[in-house]
Amino acid sequence: MAAKRSVVRERNGVTELKYRSTRGGASGIASAEAIIQGLAVDGGLFVPEEMPAVGMDFIEEMTRLSYEERAARILGLFLTDYTQEELAGCISRAYGSGKFDDVRIAPVHMLKEFPVLELWHGPTSAFKDMALQLLPQLLQTALRKTGENAEILILVATSGDTGKAALEGFADVEQIKILVFYPTGGVSKIQNLQMCTQKGKNVCVVAVKGNFDDAQNGVKAIFSDKDFGERLAAKNVKLSSANSINWGRLVPQIVYYFSAYADLLTNGTIQAGEAIDFCVPTGNFGDILAGYYAKRMGLPVAKLVCASNSNNVLTDFLQTGVYDRQRDFHKTISPSMDILISSNLERLLCHETKDAAKVKDWMQQLSEKGRYEVGDDVLQKLKETFWAGWVDDAATKKTIREVFEKERYVLDTHSAVAYRVAQKYKEATGSSRPLVVVSTASPYKFNESVLEALGEERAGLDEFAQLDKLASLNESPIPQGLASLKTAEILHRAVCEKAEMRTAAEDFATQ
Ligand SMILES: *Cc1c(COP(=O)(O)O)cnc(C)c1O
Repeated sequence: MAAKRSVVRERNGVTELKYRSTRGGASGIASAEAIIQGLAVDGGLFVPEEMPAVGMDFIEEMTRLSYEERAARILGLFLTDYTQEELAGCISRAYGSGKFDDVRIAPVHMLKEFPVLELWHGPTSAFKDMALQLLPQLLQTALRKTGENAEILILVATSGDTGKAALEGFADVEQIKILVFYPTGGVSKIQNLQMCTQKGKNVCVVAVKGNFDDAQNGVKAIFSDKDFGERLAAKNVKLSSANSINWGRLVPQIVYYFSAYADLLTNGTIQAGEAIDFCVPTGNFGDILAGYYAKRMGLPVAKLVCASNSNNVLTDFLQTGVYDRQRDFHKTISPSMDILISSNLERLLCHETKDAAKVKDWMQQLSEKGRYEVGDDVLQKLKETFWAGWVDDAATKKTIREVFEKERYVLDTHSAVAYRVAQKYKEATGSSRPLVVVSTASPYKFNESVLEALGEERAGLDEFAQLDKLASLNESPIPQGLASLKTAEILHRAVCEKAEMRTAAEDFATQ
């Protein structure tokens, strides 16, 4: 039996990698199936059953490759049931179609103090594009590969960034429709315009009267409504989600850690094999977890520094081993990190403990009591890889101003949190290793807070005048996707009550 199994798992000399649930209820799942399912049947997240390993030759080879080729190498190790041709097609439609405004896709910008990995050159100017340009392609290919002929309806509730990035990624992808709900009282003017001007024959955007929680609860209620699911199934439609628990959103993010290391090798900042650190502005723990996978695969990463804003639940967890979401929620100037439940942490705990029963128990405690505590053994292991810190809004703004004065470089509010935490990490540990600050949004996307941090007068300026003002300080053009909003046609005007969300979804699904 064992021999036969290993034959089945070998294809073209590549060992087939399967996926299992963090909570133990599913295993032996191919990646295409994991991407279609999103969440495992037991409520857990899909993780690879083994960790692919690479050597220094693999990493040095990357210095000679384009970003797309780098992505093909990494994805090929994780998505072994996709052919290289399928992966190359997905990658080229995501990163090669001119939607990114820099051909390097994820360039490293060398400042005097730190190298900065810029993940915001995609169509919506935020790092969500790195994954949400690729996920729709991986999902559509998965449907074809597995013979799934149902139409997929992606439902998203958004507080801003994810909705637009998902719309942009799924627009005109066949066999898939996307419906985004955003709260009338919750997104910025620019974010509102970004969504309401979205083109594509398979997209729909609806404003919900209420706040983000209303929109999110509405979407959750639709997902758990069995009758609704059956009515859709009768019309051959299945529901799915685009949020960051899907493996197809995580795996694209592993690529840029390798890419950054290769770029530092190329520009002579480091020698082959030299260990470096990354500091990552963190919310749902997806971005930094991708760095953890890169390290486990053999990329020379010493420490991953987890940077938070005043919603510092992860700082406390990584320092004490207690995860406690029962605390005040702070609205900050880095809103994409305003999160108290970091879903992807479950994957880390699964890899570090290899104990599904324990993980399941912790997640149950989290949902029932809002708190869990890992043992000292687990905490010590986590501390070997992670260092954590946080900063408030005042320190974030001060950092934006200081970095601009010293380096003539404008950070956005999220990246500034990481920048300041990176400084604190160096001060606290005395580490002299090279450290890469991961930058997750263009400063133009959060121009109001950025201008305020720079001490600029905003009174009387509308959104576009503010963008112009920032552009003159930053000496770099406003990204096309934002500049074009000024004249873009409004295509989506629907507004609904919270109680009408289900009807809106059913109408769109069956039209
Ligand atoms: C989503 C987001 C983050 C947080 O990333 P996670 O993967 O959720 O930890 C940070 N910055 C920006 C700008 C984001 O959009």
